[in-house]
Amino acid sequence: MGKGPKKKAESCPEACQALCCRYVATKIDAPRTKIDWDEIYWFLCHENVEVFIEARKWYVLFDTPCRNLGAKSRCVVYPRRPYVCGEHEEENCEYWGEEEGKVTMRTPEDLKAYMKRRGVRLRMAWDDPHEKAEKKTSSKPRTRRSKKG
Ligand code: SF4
Ligand code: SF4
Repeated sequence: MGKGPKKKAESCPEACQALCCRYVATKIDAPRTKIDWDEIYWFLCHENVEVFIEARKWYVLFDTPCRNLGAKSRCVVYPRRPYVCGEHEEENCEYWGEEEGKVTMRTPEDLKAYMKRRGVRLRMAWDDPHEKAEKKTSSKPRTRRSKKG
């Protein structure tokens, strides 16, 4: 992730503007514990940081361009680019590739919504206290008392 393409010089359209050279992404463990979820929340509290899930694998992404991007989004160190750049396969291309089933979270709210969808019920320090209060009120069964004359 975040690597230049193998055949960039020959096959990458200018319109793409080297999407794959404009971020760094690295695999992370899928969250299981409160501490794991808290760490993901912390990632997402930062600007230009995303967390995404692809093929059941979790990644954190830092949206930041490579220093070696030159004019017209060309790599200025192409013959000497890092090994990892040369390993970027065309099927992983962000421009042409399909992102079916990919889940992207860009903000803490995205994470909260994801946890809700997945039924992850944990009491976190960053829970919205108003939401809790609402839940408490709405979970009380309402009974109607009949008026006795
Ligand atoms: S070194 Fe070159 S190919 Fe690799 S990410 Fe930077 S600009 Fe892209
Ligand atoms: S995202 Fe795809 S098209 Fe764009 S530079 Fe990278 S490999 Fe080429």
